[in-house]
Parts: sequence; structure tokens; C-alpha cells
Amino acid sequence: MVNAHLVEGDAGCVLVDAGLPGSAHRVGRALEALGRTWKDLELIVITHAHVDHAGDAAELRKRSGAPIVAHAAEREHLAGLAPMTYCPTGWFGRLFVKTPAIHERYLRVDPDILLSDGETLDLSRFGVRGAVRHTPGHTKGSISVELDSREALVGDLLASGVLLGGIVRAGHAIRPPFEEAPATAGAELERMVDAGIQTFHLGHGGPLNAREVLRHARVLRHLRPGAPIPQRFSPEAARAR
Ligand SMILES: [Zn+2]
Ligand SMILES: [Zn+2]
Repeated sequence: MVNAHLVEGDAGCVLVDAGLPGSAHRVGRALEALGRTWKDLELIVITHAHVDHAGDAAELRKRSGAPIVAHAAEREHLAGLAPMTYCPTGWFGRLFVKTPAIHERYLRVDPDILLSDGETLDLSRFGVRGAVRHTPGHTKGSISVELDSREALVGDLLASGVLLGGIVRAGHAIRPPFEEAPATAGAELERMVDAGIQTFHLGHGGPLNAREVLRHARVLRHLRPGAPIPQRFSPEAARAR
């Protein structure tokens, strides 16, 4: 239910997100399947500091020697200096935030490259054609990778499927369990669709096409921060059935 993406470029690989603690061996297997080794990993992008995206970052840097890039606003969370924030979007998020899994400790990391607001990192020097951009909304310091191939890897800027995004309704966009600023997330998604992104790869579920992302973005634009959205799967609805 948790995605990390390995982008293979002409001159190297870029990893987008580091998975839960203990998942580095999966990245090793993915590199092997491409006929690559840890040396080919040029950069580790952490889209935000939630444990399912940053959990094994320290171990992955140790194995590959690749630098880690994150946004400056996530730094104190990654470094363990401040607890991560969670703004639930519905019953699942409210329930989830009470489980120990989400507060699971991971090896704290200090990123090698910190992006500031509005700053872009060109990926060509890491062997991939594209850029890392600041895309706030899910958290203040969320970042995304936009590739020249018109694909984007957006972390938790949106999700798909049910709950944490499984195989059911994977083509249907939903809000992730947590989201700090829905209107901001919506604006970022609209900007990416306008810029020509056709396929969106997500931290949970996906991929989604531009048309579905635009439909979702327009819903988000009209929500207040922290406002719940009617859920298709809620305990109340299940009981009523
Ligand atoms: Zn998240
Ligand atoms: Zn996530």
C-alpha cells in the first residue's frame, strides 16, 4: 500500500521516497532488476517527512552514498527535532493517527540538499531529465518530481483507491488520510496539469491520468483547510448498510 518510485534516466537513477523502515532491500532488488547497482543511485528525493516516505532514507543513503533532497520545512521533522503534524481528512485519518504505526520511529536524517519555497532542483546532473519542485498542500514542505516525459511523482499530494490506496478503485482520486491545505494542493495539481503532465504517480494507489487529477483538484479548490469530504467508505455508512 506504500509506493516508492525508482526513475531510471540516461545516466543514473533517482529514487522518489524511501518507504517504511526496513524496506531498503526492496530498492536493492529493483535496481538489480534493471541491471543496476547501488552506485547507480544518484539522488534520493523525500517528498515529505511522514514515516512511510522517509522511513528508510538513512539506510538507503548509507547503502548508495546518494545525497538526500527534501524541502527545508520538513527538515526539523526529518531530523527528529519536532514531531510530524497530521491533519486528518476523514474518519480513516482520525483513526489512523491514533495507531502506533504512524508514529513509528525511523532513523533520523539530515538531508544533504534543502529546497526553499519556490526553489527548483534540475535533475539532469543526477542523470534524469526533469526537476524537483516545491508542491505544498499535503504538508508545508511537500515536493514533487516532474519529468520531461510528462509524468510526475507527487507523493501524497493526492491518493487513489480506498483507505491507503489499494488495488480497489485505483483510478479514482481521493484525498490522502492527512492534508494540511487542500486548496493549495488543488492549485499545485492544476498547475501541473496546465504544464502538460499526463500521468501522476502517487505514494498510495495510482497512477492517475490528468483528467481525473483535474476533477479532484477542482473539488479541493473549494474546501476549507481541514474540512472533511464525504467518504464513500465510512464505518457509519457500513453500519447503515
Ligand atoms: Zn503523507
Ligand atoms: Zn503516505
